[in-house]
Amino acid sequence: MTLTGKIAIVTGGSRGIGKAVCLRLARMGAAVVVNYVSRPDAAQETVAAIKEAGGAAAAYQFDVANAEQVQAAVKKIQADFGRIDILVNNAGITRDGLVAMMKEEAWDEVIDTNLKGAFNCIKAVSRPMMKQRWGRIVSIASVIGFAGNAGQANYAAAKAGMVGLTRSVARELASRGVTVNGVAPGYIETDMTRELSEEVTDKIKAEIPMNSLGSVDDVAAAVAYLVSEEARYVTGQFIHVNGGMFMG
Ligand code: NDP
Repeated sequence: MTLTGKIAIVTGGSRGIGKAVCLRLARMGAAVVVNYVSRPDAAQETVAAIKEAGGAAAAYQFDVANAEQVQAAVKKIQADFGRIDILVNNAGITRDGLVAMMKEEAWDEVIDTNLKGAFNCIKAVSRPMMKQRWGRIVSIASVIGFAGNAGQANYAAAKAGMVGLTRSVARELASRGVTVNGVAPGYIETDMTRELSEEVTDKIKAEIPMNSLGSVDDVAAAVAYLVSEEARYVTGQFIHVNGGMFMG
C-alpha cells in the first residue's frame, strides 16, 4: 500500500494515536500535516521523527472546535501543498463525570472538540476532495460510542455522533471518489488512558478477551488500510480495534 504524492492532515497528530498515524502514513509516502492545539514541542517531535525517517511533514496549530481556524488552516495547507487527499479526524478529549453531576462546560467542550471538530474539518476538506475526485476521510471514534460507558455520556454521545456523521457524509461523497470511514478503538495505551488508576485499568483488562490494552500502532494499521487505494470500495464503515471487547 503506497501513498506517494498524497497529502494527509492528521488532527491531534502530535501525540498518542495521532502521532502513530502520522508516522505510519509518512512511511507509506504521504506528506503529513501534523495538527496540534497546545503542545508545539510534541508536534515538532513528531515532525522531526518523520523527517529523520526520510519522510515529509509540517506542524500546523489550530483548534478543531473553531470553524474559522479550521477554514483558514485548510486554505493555508492547500496553498502550501497544492492539494489535500487524506483527513484523519483524531483530535479528541475527555471530561468525564456522571450525568447528574456533569457541568454544562464539560458537555460542550467534548461535543465541540470531538464531534463539531470532525464536522468542521470534513466540511473544510470536502470541496477540494470532491473537485479532485479522490479523497479519504477517516474519523477515530471509540468503543464507548457503540457500547456506552457510565461517567462518559458526553464522550459517548460525541463518538456515537461521529458514526452518524461518517455514514451520512459517506453517502454524500461516494460518487465523487471520496470514501468516509472510521476506526473505533477500544482501550489503547496513550496519555488519555495513562490517567486511569491501576485498579480501573485492571478492571478494563478483565473485560477484554485479549486481556490487554491495544497499542497506537494497532489503530494506525487500520487507518492505513482505510486511506489506501486498496480500500476504494469501502465507505461508511467502522473497523473495531478493541481486542474483542465489543463485537459490533
Ligand atoms: P491524547 O490525549 O494522547 O492526544 C490527543 C491529541 O489531540 C493531541 O495531539 C492534542 O493536541 C489533540 N487535541 C486535543 N484537543 C484538540 C483541539 N481542540 N484541536 C486540535 N487538536 C486537539 O489522545 P489519544 O491518542 O489517546 O486519542 C486520540 C483519539 O483516539 C481521540 O479522538 C480519542 O477519543 C480516541 N480514542 C482513544 C482511545 C484510547 O484508549 N486512548 C480509545 C478510543 C478512542 P496537543 O498535543 O496540542 O494537546
